[in-house]
Amino acid sequence: MSLSSPSDTAVQPAATGDRRNDKLGQDTVICHAGRDPAAHFGAVNPPVFHASTILFPTLAALDAKADAKIRYGRRGTPTTFALEDAVAALEAAAGVVLTPSGANAISTTLLAHLSPGDHALIADNVYGPCRHCANEVLRRFGVDVDFYDPLIGAGIARMIKPNTRLIWMEAPGSLTFEMTDIAAIVAVAKPRGIVTVVDNTWSGGVFFKPLTLGVDISVQAGTKYISGHSDLMLGTIACAEGSYGRVKSFAQRMGICIAPDDAYLAQRGLRTIAVRMRQHQVNALQLALWLEKRPEVTRVMHPALATDPGHALWKAHFTGASGLFGFVIRETDRRKLAAMVDGLRLFGMGSSWGGYESLILPTDPRALRSATSWTEPGQCMRVHVGLEDVADLIDDLDRGFDRLGR
Ligand SMILES: *Cc1c(COP(=O)(O)O)cnc(C)c1O
Repeated sequence: MSLSSPSDTAVQPAATGDRRNDKLGQDTVICHAGRDPAAHFGAVNPPVFHASTILFPTLAALDAKADAKIRYGRRGTPTTFALEDAVAALEAAAGVVLTPSGANAISTTLLAHLSPGDHALIADNVYGPCRHCANEVLRRFGVDVDFYDPLIGAGIARMIKPNTRLIWMEAPGSLTFEMTDIAAIVAVAKPRGIVTVVDNTWSGGVFFKPLTLGVDISVQAGTKYISGHSDLMLGTIACAEGSYGRVKSFAQRMGICIAPDDAYLAQRGLRTIAVRMRQHQVNALQLALWLEKRPEVTRVMHPALATDPGHALWKAHFTGASGLFGFVIRETDRRKLAAMVDGLRLFGMGSSWGGYESLILPTDPRALRSATSWTEPGQCMRVHVGLEDVADLIDDLDRGFDRLGR
């Protein structure tokens, strides 16, 4: 068994809270935060408000509209406020800004903070479109960008310039799943007044709370685990007290808002995120352990495995692991790879992840590096382990490996 001990990866009661202080446990908060049935005829879920114009009955009410919470569709409705409140509770945030996609949550967060002449540090294993936004948009607006080795830890101090304004982290990293020492980077950034951001999509906000570590902003592609059903696009920017106003007003100036049906679906998905994540965790670990023993597999990249180089850091930061990890197979012949993946019955191929269904994707991390290089031989794969029976998933991959070897 390569898990360090069952308790490392067993389901954690995750932030059970301090009952003496009347604090609620995480599962309870996820079920109840942001809901107010009494305000909606007793309906359990916040209704969908389709609205652009909000009518004011009198001139006095119109004159006072700057103080009204609901005054124009773009500024939010009870549907979007319910989702904001629920995500704020999940991420331990002072306020949440909702955006039309995870990629937009990234660009909005970057542009809200960075001005011409500023410098930003971005992890080398970051989600691809974040890298492209930095290279193609930030640079065009005169922002200096450097990518850093995600294993740098406190060594990030060496890369800080007098004009460094923001440090972007993602853990574990997209495609390659390295862990970053977030606490060490925050310890360097905080005294210098540098804003820290974590892309927290992998943990869904259930297994990691960056803001409780002193991180300023936790960004998620709500498209993934918050939605949980592969049927909507959403970004969430969960902000600590000092960051919320800046991000919120920037998003308003940019005209960023989300559609009411997507807000409704996302809050509905969110209600089951804790229980889904625990099952994703269990299924993924079983599959990862099985893959580790396969002769076709040269490496499994999953920080909850005791054999993973990021295991200690993962344990220090996270209370659990999600359903997404990577592995490397020895065979690189494209035709054989096609025979393997084309014949899979249960694993779909496509972008995104975080739904209830399993996915598999051949990846190439080499194209998405600049500060470091990816030299591991073999074909990288990314797998999202869904909520199916693991035995069936293993059987599907087992047959796939047979086709690969033929
Ligand atoms: C998918 C993803 C995003 C982008 O989300 P979209 O909603 O697809 O734009 C951002 N960060 C990470 C880590 C992701 O996996």
